[in-house]
Amino acid sequence: MALSFAEFKAALQADEAALAARQTVTGILACVACEEPLQESVTGSRHTHKGYMCSDCYFEELGRELDAHPIMTPRAVR
Ligand SMILES: [Zn+2]
Repeated sequence: MALSFAEFKAALQADEAALAARQTVTGILACVACEEPLQESVTGSRHTHKGYMCSDCYFEELGRELDAHPIMTPRAVR
């Protein structure tokens, strides 16, 4: 069923209001960590083994992993 222009505009405004209130609307994924609706240009959208995450949660998680497992260069054996 096709939407009329007025119906489409009302649906768009309802989605914008929901996103502003940080509620996920149909067709938009939410961050698996903080449940914020993911918008590529606003929150970022990064695919991880847990699911999609916003950039803030992704780098927070990456920082925790690096603290737990630091990257070290092996010493030369002489
Ligand atoms: Zn997040």
